[in-house]
Amino acid sequence: MKTAHGAAADQGHAPASPDGNSSGVEPPVLGGPEFSDYFLLDNLLTDDQRALKNKVRQFMDQEVVPVINPYWERAEFPFELVPKLAQLDIAGFQIAEYGCPGMSNVTAGLVILELARGDLSISTMMGVHSALAMTSIALLGSEEQKQRFLPAMARMEKLGAFGLTEPTHGSDVVKLETTARSDGDSYVINGHKRWIGNATFADYSIIWARGDDGHVGGYVVEKGTPGFDARVIKGKTALRCVQNAQISLTDVRVPAANRLANVHTFRDTEKVLLASRFCVAWESIGAAVAGYETALAYAKQRRQFGMPLAAFQLVQYRLSRMLADITDMLCMQFRLSQLLDEGEYSMPRVALAKMHYTERARAILADARDMLGGNGILLDYHVARHLCDIEAIDTYEGTDTVQALIVGRDITGYSAFVPVAPGHH
Ligand SMILES: Cc1cc2nc3c(=O)[nH]c(=O)nc-3n(C[C@H](O)[C@H](O)[C@H](O)COP(=O)(O)OP(=O)(O)OC[C@H]3O[C@@H](n4cnc5c(N)ncnc54)[C@H](O)[C@@H]3O)c2cc1C
Repeated sequence: MKTAHGAAADQGHAPASPDGNSSGVEPPVLGGPEFSDYFLLDNLLTDDQRALKNKVRQFMDQEVVPVINPYWERAEFPFELVPKLAQLDIAGFQIAEYGCPGMSNVTAGLVILELARGDLSISTMMGVHSALAMTSIALLGSEEQKQRFLPAMARMEKLGAFGLTEPTHGSDVVKLETTARSDGDSYVINGHKRWIGNATFADYSIIWARGDDGHVGGYVVEKGTPGFDARVIKGKTALRCVQNAQISLTDVRVPAANRLANVHTFRDTEKVLLASRFCVAWESIGAAVAGYETALAYAKQRRQFGMPLAAFQLVQYRLSRMLADITDMLCMQFRLSQLLDEGEYSMPRVALAKMHYTERARAILADARDMLGGNGILLDYHVARHLCDIEAIDTYEGTDTVQALIVGRDITGYSAFVPVAPGHH
């Protein structure tokens, strides 16, 4: 396979393959950093950041991209990749100590971008484990809880899930109905959760439930606890490798020591959501980069009307628009990451980022799909998988609309989340 670097166009005609997938253009490898880092943000990185980013990119290109499509088609989670992911020493992202890498927000972002550029199911699995489950414990657990749970999670010997959404509460999850009743030295949890990633195999599922005082708390439910029944949601057209579960909790007894010590109200849960929403924003950029790089590589190789597609003005216009969007997103997100590193936490800023990038990534991937012609709908060419997967990124961690409502409330002072029903003032 030829690489897409430089101006060389692959004019070769691949031999007909038995599965009928040969088209004259081999599935292009993803391009190099020169394709998408147009404003040279790489120059701002430290050697360590650059080395880590390249390590993750290489891992995704060599170990994940070549094997992921059949898993995606079968809707299976690639367990074989977990030990290899563990060796990257990235689990826990920004969490310091307890065996975690303690990355800055900029560094964590670069790592997530590279995971997502390779595959959104893998970045999602890592995001649920690190940015949701581990971060819940790191931000809201007691010292004893951090020491008990985090080291094995950092080594990925134990995997985490985060159960917040319910069948009847998605965008309005603040109204969640799952209960945790205090009973001696334990809590008894009852209710239902939906869409919970990793939950069918997770060792520690953080379940959010309403306590006797009416406030939301976080409870670490350990694998094998009676009454915890997680079933895979089948028939997904996005993130097919991620195992999302519908969970029934029936008299699930959790030791009091597993209630996250520093959660007092839903506001505390939102601290975790800010951290993970920030990671999801980086995921969208990674997916957009994959779409752009593949479209560019393909346009250089595919010839029509006697010329590579890359030579046509309209194709160059589309590629330029994609690169402008990616450059815009990277510059914005780099600055947002710096602000977080400086302790400037703002949910509306993170919401703005997630809303904007996901919308642009969807557009870029749809455009890239079209620019690959018929091959664009084949998994072999990678864009199709990203195009399907970005739909889930658009929804999870709050939909496009919900992000806009968060920003809208911030800039206008009016909360437009809950309309007033006719007759109610
Ligand atoms: C693949 C996947 C993985 C997920 N992983 C997890 C996980 O690991 N853990 C977890 O807890 N959750 C998870 N989720 C749940 C996710 O966060 C929710 O799906 C999301 O918050 C949206 O909720 P909903 O699907 O119930 O949609 P709804 O809230 O029913 O929204 C439906 C539509 O109504 C719109 N809408 C809602 N409220 C308003 C309003 N006030 N004004 C205007 N429009 C509105 C929405 O924008 C959307 O377009 C996952 C979801 C998916 C799809």
